[in-house]
Amino acid sequence: MHRRRILMTLTAALTATALASCTIGDAEDTASTASPVTGVQTGAASPTDTLPDPTTAQLKDSEDRSGTADTTTGDLTALAGRTIYIDPGHAGTAPPADLTAIDGRGGTKACNTSGTASDAGWPEHTFTWEISQQLKTILEEAGATVLLTRADDVNRADCIDERAYKENASAADAVVSLHADGSGTGNTGFHISAIADPLPDNLPTESADLATSVRDAMVAAGLPTSNYLGTDGLYPRSDLTGLNLSSKPKILIEFGNMRDLSDLAQLESADGRKVRAQAVAQGLADFLS
Ligand SMILES: [Zn+2]
Repeated sequence: MHRRRILMTLTAALTATALASCTIGDAEDTASTASPVTGVQTGAASPTDTLPDPTTAQLKDSEDRSGTADTTTGDLTALAGRTIYIDPGHAGTAPPADLTAIDGRGGTKACNTSGTASDAGWPEHTFTWEISQQLKTILEEAGATVLLTRADDVNRADCIDERAYKENASAADAVVSLHADGSGTGNTGFHISAIADPLPDNLPTESADLATSVRDAMVAAGLPTSNYLGTDGLYPRSDLTGLNLSSKPKILIEFGNMRDLSDLAQLESADGRKVRAQAVAQGLADFLS
């Protein structure tokens, strides 16, 4: 079953560019050039060697917790005194289409895409804003200082390059960019991107460690990894401005597919978002401990 899932994932990765209307973060306009960077995924750090099957992990987690799925019992003490920068993807008001940002690889792309939406029109920028506020509360309760790349879900906000510059200039110990995908029905689950083909200012090892910690925490919380992109929930990328320009440990999380009704139900639910925010907080704590 596990092997079959990997094959499906690889097949999906090869056709991902055709599927993705995605607003994978700031790369919506460059989806046709997005690469799954299979060399990185199949390298020495491949998680397939060490990660238990998510189903097994979920069962084990449930057993360890005597059947409870409560993720609030995790140890978040490592967050005390640390600074976390949260980037709720996109903005309440999209920028003019002709406003550009640098992409970090010598080109330009849109300042900020409008993001995806559910079929009923619930926008990604509202999902990312809502879950950012839940994550902020959890982190602050654990004693962390939280910074945000935008102030509300109404107005324009900084372009993606400016967000990265502000993150870099801050005292942040880690940066998490929050998104949801827009893909085909049946494509489900979360994936996390850290930098691939790193540039001199990037922190590739730390960013990959952060991605793994958050992935592990999300799997332990019973959240399914993507069945259509990446490998075991990890999808390193070199085409995201926010990662290309970062000098921090940074990841971009796609929490699910807003065009799939089962994923959407979780993303629209305050409880569904809370489970995910708690898992991200746990992954951050594990990374910082
Ligand atoms: Zn997005």
